[in-house]
This record gives sequence, C-alpha cells and structure tokens, in this order.
Amino acid sequence: MRLATIHTWAGPRAAVQQADAFVDVHATDVHVPPSVRQILEAGPEMLALAQHAAERKDAVKYESGKVKFYAPVHDPRKIVCIGLNYKDHAAESGAPIPKEPILFSKYATALIGHNENIVIPPVSQEVDYEAELVVVIGKAGRHIPAAAALNHVAGYTVGHDVSARDWQLKKDGKQWMVGKTFDTFAPAGPVLVTKDEAPDPHKLAIKLRLNGQTMQDSNTNQLIFGVGEIVAYLSQVFTLEAGDLIYTGTPPGVGFAKKPPVFLKGGDVVEVEIEGLGVLRNPVVQG
Ligand code: ZN
Repeated sequence: MRLATIHTWAGPRAAVQQADAFVDVHATDVHVPPSVRQILEAGPEMLALAQHAAERKDAVKYESGKVKFYAPVHDPRKIVCIGLNYKDHAAESGAPIPKEPILFSKYATALIGHNENIVIPPVSQEVDYEAELVVVIGKAGRHIPAAAALNHVAGYTVGHDVSARDWQLKKDGKQWMVGKTFDTFAPAGPVLVTKDEAPDPHKLAIKLRLNGQTMQDSNTNQLIFGVGEIVAYLSQVFTLEAGDLIYTGTPPGVGFAKKPPVFLKGGDVVEVEIEGLGVLRNPVVQG
C-alpha cells in the first residue's frame, strides 16, 4: 500500500494511491481516521480497512498530477535522525566510523512534502543536501529487540536531511540539531510504502540529483547500522510511537565535502530517489 497525506478542502487527509489517483479514505462511509498517524496507531486491521475504503465507488479521488502533498505522516510525534551511518560518508566528513548510532533530531516544523519549497534561511550561507531512507514506525514499543524490530515498522519513505553546515559544525559545541531543524529542512515523501509492498530496505539504490546532476549514488547495503539495530538502539532510550520518522543517514557525495564545496541556492531543484519507494522532489528558494 502507498499512503500519502494530501491537501484537501478539509485540511490534511490520509490518502491511498490507486492507479493514477489518490483516494481520501476518510471521506467514505467506512470509518477510517483522517490522518496517516491515526491509521497506523489503530493497527493492521485499520490499514486493511483503509485499502477497502480506497476501492469503494463513493470514494473521493484526486488526480495524481494535481495532488498537493504534505509529508506522508504530517504530524509525527518524533523525527529522529542518525548521523554518519555510511562508512564512506563518515570518511568524507573526516569523522571516525561510529561504534554506536549518532543521534540528533528535527522538529515537526521542519517537515515538508513532495514539491514543497526548501527555504534557505538568511542566516546560513552553507545549506547542504543529504539523501536518506526514512523508516516509519507502525507500532509503539520500548526495549524492542533488533530481531523483532520489523514488527514495529510500518514502512519506508524517501527523505532529505537538509543541513546548514555553518550552524551544524561551526557554532560552539557543534550543535548538530540546530543546523538540521530550520523550517523546511525535513522533506519526506511523496508516499509511505508499507513494508509488505516495500523491497528489502537494506538493498536499495539511493541517489540524489541537484538540477539533474547526480551528486550522491549509493545503496542502503552500505548502512553501518541497519533498520533493526537502529530501532533497538533508539527504543532503549525512548518509546517509539506510530508515525515516528527515523532518518537513517546519508551516503557520500554531500556538498560540503566536494572540492570546491557545493551549497544549495534559490532556483535549485533537488531530487532524492530510492529504488522501489519513489522520487522526492523539492525546489529551493532563498528566504
Ligand atoms: Zn543526515
């Protein structure tokens, strides 16, 4: 199943992709909640009901070409990010290969959907791109063993960890979070692909194109910490909840490591593509 959150006259609504349309699954006689997070919280039976609702004749459909997207989960309780999770990206960053996952986070105000603008804040001159696989949590849990982690995963989406390097790396204390959580710095989407339909998350080609030119080209088989290890590690610390988004780190080829460095500017278009999950496209504007 491919789930999105789309703009409707009634506000953000959960939608299921059906051929060339997105179906508002709340706007039928079947009792499906309005948000993707609430559908995930209600469990697998509700996902099945949402699919059933999408196939009904009275369903309200939006043509794919005309849909405006939010992030697939537009109101997550947490956005957790893993840093330096590809060996060669750690090397290009001049950082040692981590022995445990490196954590930071973004606020929900950073989240944007497919085709929404990334806004360069006037206070940064070094805004960089990072292609990332995003894990979407489906079932709450604490102290989840790595072997059981997939029971807690709803599926996957495409993510972009936009990063103001001057704020991330050049401020006192190297506060990663502050450089990574400017408004619009967490594009995700277009859709959440549920795990039953998604390919193996550890064998996916991952690419980033800047104005059509390939800047990052790798595979999730290069991840240092896989999905199970990440879920197990995080759930030692806090409760993972349905709808939580986990950005799993970026492969090499980021802008600040290039010679000369490449940073985003108004007028750019960034596309992140992950095999089997889709293409996340975002224009860049100067704020
Ligand atoms: Zn990142």
